Amino acid sequence: MQVAIVGAGLGGLTAALALAQLGLSVTVYEQAPALGEVGAGITISPNAGRVLDHLGLGEQVRALGVLPGTQHVRDLASGRTIRTMARDPGLEARHGAPYRHLHRADLHGLLARALEACAAGSIRLGHRLVSVTRGGRMRFADGTEAAADVVVGADGVRSAVRDALFDTGPPLFTGQVAWRGLVPAEALAEPVRSEPPGIHIGPGRLVLRYPVRGGRLANYAVFVETSGWEEEGWTCPSTRAELIGHLEGACRSVRALVEATPEQWLFKWALFAREPLQTWVAGRVTLLGDAAHAMLPFMGQGAATAIEDAMVLARALAAFPPGEALRRYEAARRARTTMVQLQSRLLGLRFQGRHPETLGRGPLRNEEDLGLFDYDPVTVPL
Ligand SMILES: Cc1cc2nc3c(=O)[nH]c(=O)nc-3n(C[C@H](O)[C@H](O)[C@H](O)COP(=O)(O)OP(=O)(O)OC[C@H]3O[C@@H](n4cnc5c(N)ncnc54)[C@H](O)[C@@H]3O)c2cc1C
Repeated sequence: MQVAIVGAGLGGLTAALALAQLGLSVTVYEQAPALGEVGAGITISPNAGRVLDHLGLGEQVRALGVLPGTQHVRDLASGRTIRTMARDPGLEARHGAPYRHLHRADLHGLLARALEACAAGSIRLGHRLVSVTRGGRMRFADGTEAAADVVVGADGVRSAVRDALFDTGPPLFTGQVAWRGLVPAEALAEPVRSEPPGIHIGPGRLVLRYPVRGGRLANYAVFVETSGWEEEGWTCPSTRAELIGHLEGACRSVRALVEATPEQWLFKWALFAREPLQTWVAGRVTLLGDAAHAMLPFMGQGAATAIEDAMVLARALAAFPPGEALRRYEAARRARTTMVQLQSRLLGLRFQGRHPETLGRGPLRNEEDLGLFDYDPVTVPL
């Protein structure tokens, strides 16, 4: 079976690697002229870590990533800790898989090298898909064409595959704009430099912070409820002054983090999401990751669910004929990802609510309480 994957993001590369390891023939078509990932952090939780372990990358993920220990949820205004969450060796022992903060480029590079070692030359760069048929015939912006027995749209929130074949509206602006920044640890003075990872919450705003690259870089994201700026893309440059303007009343440590950010490492982007799809299969074509279920990032599960999709899809394609494999993949994945999409939005509403101090009182259904970490894409029934 020839499988074509459109998009060499974290989801597409994981799917390609899993398929290649299962002995299927796979080609990845990526629009960018060179492989790469944005300068930002990513959390890999055990549900995705289990897949990376299975694909033989677990040790490298553990070595490249940072295990946070304890995460703090703090009041954005006062800096006071509201509650803590253990993200320590005990968590990993309970789940038998890694939980790590990584630089996205490190994880992406790991997947790309593993794929090259297993299926050399399987990535075609500079191939922007413009159309695809239900039968698996693809056309690219440079006029070239290709065909496959199965086509997988792993081409992100603005998926051309989804737009071509699935009954779908445009990506919806979520009312959230996010800034992301990286700061060299040595640019931060104590005590800000050694502050524990976690989030600061306050009305309409949320700041996420954690270390990457062995603690040499502090990665952060600031989510602001706002309207009037909906530009797409992950790489719109911003300025410290613009971001500080959205952090009125924030505690000293959050402002210090922003003030120390080199401006070439500060970007903003509007967050878009999709309504859950009614079906994931159109003939020989399916979707994966953000193309299928783009979500708000408040549970840190977007890439994790893309990685889960990738493993389940590869197992289905290795075990069943194409039509049946795609049906089983959809049946195994749709309810779970719809639930995570909706829970991420709910958690965001609670984090950015008017009264941060009430967060710790009622039941907080975060990603671990919801049981998301227990899911095993390597063994889940198909
Ligand atoms: C602030 C923020 C923080 C986040 N933190 C986390 C986290 O901690 N943990 C987590 O699990 N998730 C997190 N996420 C979510 C995560 O980043 C995404 O869900 C994930 O990157 C989706 O992967 P993907 O492979 O589906 O899509 P993408 O990463 O978007 O990759 C799509 C690929 O397809 C290519 N492409 C697009 N169109 C075409 C075309 N027409 N033809 C060919 N190629 C094409 C693109 O160039 C790209 O390489 C976060 C998101 C945000 C916004």
